[in-house]
Parts: sequence; structure tokens; C-alpha cells
Amino acid sequence: MSAPQVSSQTPSSRLEEILTPSSRIEELSDSEFDYEDMDSVAGESVSEQFPRLNLIASPLKDQLVTETSQVQDEALEAILPFLEGNPNDFELNSFGIPKLQRKKHVAFLNHALGEYPPPFAAMDASRPWIVYWSLQGLTALGEDVSEYRERVAYTFAAGQHPDGGFGGGHGQLPHLAATYAAVLSLVIVGGEEAYESIDRKAMWSYLGGMKQPDGGFTMAPGGEEDIRGAFCALVVMSLLNLPLELPPDAPSRSQGYTTFLDGLGTWVSRCQTYEGGISAAPGNEAHGAYAFCGLGCLCLMGPPKETLNEYLNMPLLLHWLSSRHTFPEGGYNGRTNKLVDGCYSHWIGGCWALVEAAIGKGLWNRSALARYILSAAQFKKGGLVDKPGKRPDAYHTCYNLAGLSAVQHHYFYDGDDKGTDHELRAAYKWKGAQLEEDREGERVWDQGDVVELVHPVFVVPWGQAESCRKYFEAKEGF
Ligand SMILES: [Zn+2]
Repeated sequence: MSAPQVSSQTPSSRLEEILTPSSRIEELSDSEFDYEDMDSVAGESVSEQFPRLNLIASPLKDQLVTETSQVQDEALEAILPFLEGNPNDFELNSFGIPKLQRKKHVAFLNHALGEYPPPFAAMDASRPWIVYWSLQGLTALGEDVSEYRERVAYTFAAGQHPDGGFGGGHGQLPHLAATYAAVLSLVIVGGEEAYESIDRKAMWSYLGGMKQPDGGFTMAPGGEEDIRGAFCALVVMSLLNLPLELPPDAPSRSQGYTTFLDGLGTWVSRCQTYEGGISAAPGNEAHGAYAFCGLGCLCLMGPPKETLNEYLNMPLLLHWLSSRHTFPEGGYNGRTNKLVDGCYSHWIGGCWALVEAAIGKGLWNRSALARYILSAAQFKKGGLVDKPGKRPDAYHTCYNLAGLSAVQHHYFYDGDDKGTDHELRAAYKWKGAQLEEDREGERVWDQGDVVELVHPVFVVPWGQAESCRKYFEAKEGF
């Protein structure tokens, strides 16, 4: 028997082959921006500029020049003018930092919920995500999104598969990523019509098919098994109050599993890498978004103090998370040696509330992250970006704002000893409050720059997850 054919092409070259130039649309975070263009703006070399940025200490820098170090220097050249000056001419707050451009971001996100030009047909499978990012971003900015309630329920009714779960749109196969985004969107708009549009029994059955013999979950039937699958499945199960028992026909029952949680903690544990972060699947590289999924998963399973300490090496995780801070930029990167990117304001910044609930402390610089978001990640015309020079999109707008909320608030886990915080009820025991006014040196924002509380596990507006869960707890059966 001959060995299976393995393509020697990289994924991106295969993508080039699949997509004809005319059918390609630019990736949301892509940009034609050329860092060299910024040389004339920056004027001086990076090293000459360090002393001017006195709010954020710079690290020791070794002399080894690599392709990576060069790209990092180029990115820094592009970002520094925004940290040291105000190239967008934004109005400044009392700390000399650009104010949150609330109105512009609201307009950008409302526009993102509107119609798209024909090339965006290629994004159809991601439609639930665009809706979720936009709605979540709007609520973080304090907007009432109830006007979208009917439209959201109507949109996703067409994307729900008869066998359970949601696809991107009508006639598409269901996928856990689309399911997660659709359910969160329905939870954000809330109300009986939105809740009742979900076929919970079919969802339970569909999720049963994702549970794998090693304890993890796939993203789709026969699809990739990774930590997004576990997190998305648990978020949906918890919000919809689905039974923890596996459906009778779930394939993993043949391995002796009886519940969705069997073997899961150990599987998440296997995703923690030698660096301390969490990867998509055992053996892969640690990554910011997967770290949030892994921590979120454990925080759904039980009190963070129990589950995180049981399944993760916390000192190693703390080291990895704190190492994601980029200096002097102040924002986060998602992996070792990568560039700062505004979306990790949430994927890494959002991890701290969960970690602090488990070990009582975090190791992060709130003011540096807030400074990056307000100074470098706000696009002149509205919306937020990965870094200066990139175009805004709903994804980076949503997660920059979620990161800003994480910075501006404290979260407390307020569980009891009565065992009521297991069986996917743990995530409803959180309390949140704004960072105290007297936190001198940490607060670099005025009250007008404060965004709303965001639920630290579900990443939806405060109170919406609780309302949904309560609604389904009050129902008998499906
Ligand atoms: Zn990003």
C-alpha cells in the first residue's frame, strides 16, 4: 500500500490556487500599508525614540538582527508616532491620550451590520461572526441593540440546520464556530423570540457528535479537533442549559463516556505547552486566542480556583501571558516573537480576570494596554485596528473594546461552597466593578473613555448570559 499523498505546498499557496484573483477579497486585517512609508513620519531610528516614550519602560534589546527583529523594528517605527504624538488629531483626555472616539466607532459598527458589496459573498460562512462582533462592540460602547432583535432572530433562523447547530447562512453545513457566534448574537439581543428560535434538542444531539474519544471536541462532524471546539460547545451548552449527559447515540459513549465533561479537563491540560501558554491541540504552539478558549473552558467547568489550578501549571502560564506584553508598544502579541496586535487586547487581556480569580493576582500593565488601544488602535474615521496602518474591521473593533473593558474593570469570582457552581453553572458567579478612581498610574482614561462591563467568560454584555440561562432553567425539558 502506498503512502498517502502529502502536498508539499504551503497552505497559502494552496489558497492562491483555489481562489482566482477576481474572487479574492482582501482579508479583513490585511492592508496595503507599507511600513517603509512610515520612515518619513517617524524620522528617527527606534533607539533614538525610546527615551521620549517615558511612560512605558523599554526592555533590554540584544544585538542579534534577524528577519523577525527587523519586522518588529519596522512595526515599532510605525506605532511610536501614535504613542508619542497624535497624528489623527483626536481630542485628548486629561492624561494627554486620545479620547475614546465613541460616536465614530458606533457609526462604523452600525455600518458593519448593513449591506456588503458582492465580493463579500466569500465571507458568507462568517456572517454570524460579523453580526456577533458588531453587536458586542456596540453594546460595549453603551448602545442599545434591541432594534436588531427581530433581524438577528430572522437571519439565524435561516442558518440553523435541521440536525442542529448553525451554519453561516441558508443551506450551509453547521459548524461550531458559526454556532457559537450565532448563539452569542441571539443572547446579546435577548428576548423570547431570539431564545425560542434555537432548536435546543437538535443542538444537544449535534454537540454529542462533536465529543471525541480523547475528551476534546471537533468543530464539525469529521472536522478538526481543537480547543475552540471544547470552548464553543461548553459556552452553548451552558447558555442553553442543555443536559450534561451525552445523547444516547453519541459515538464517544462507546469509549465509556457518559457526559460531555468526561476527559475534558485532562485534554485541556495536554494543550498547555512547554512555554506555558495553551495551544489549539496537544503538541501545537501556544497562542493567545487558544489560551482564552482553554481558560474559558475551565472556567465554565467549575470555580477557576479549582479548575485552573487542577489542570494547568499556573506559574508557567503566568510567565507566558505576561511575556505577551510588547514594549514599548504596550499592547499584546499572540505568540512568541510575533507583532503587537489590537485583537489580543482581549485574547490575552481577557485572560487576566480568569487567572486572577484562580490565583489572586495578575501580571499585566493596564495603563500600557489602555494607552495602546486608545492611541494606536483607534482608526481616524472610526473602528479599531490591529495596529496603525491597518484597516478597521468588526473583529478588531470588538476585541479591542473588550480588552479596554478588561483594563477598566475588576472581576471577582463569587462562588459558594454548596456545589452549585459545577455542571456549567460556574460562569454565572462573577461580579464586576469599575477600577477605582484612585488607582493612580494605572488609570490613563477619563470617565468618558470607559466602556461597558463585558462578561469575562461569555464575552457578551453584563447580564445577558444570566438572562438566557434563567430563561431555559425555567423551562421543563426541551
Ligand atoms: Zn488581530
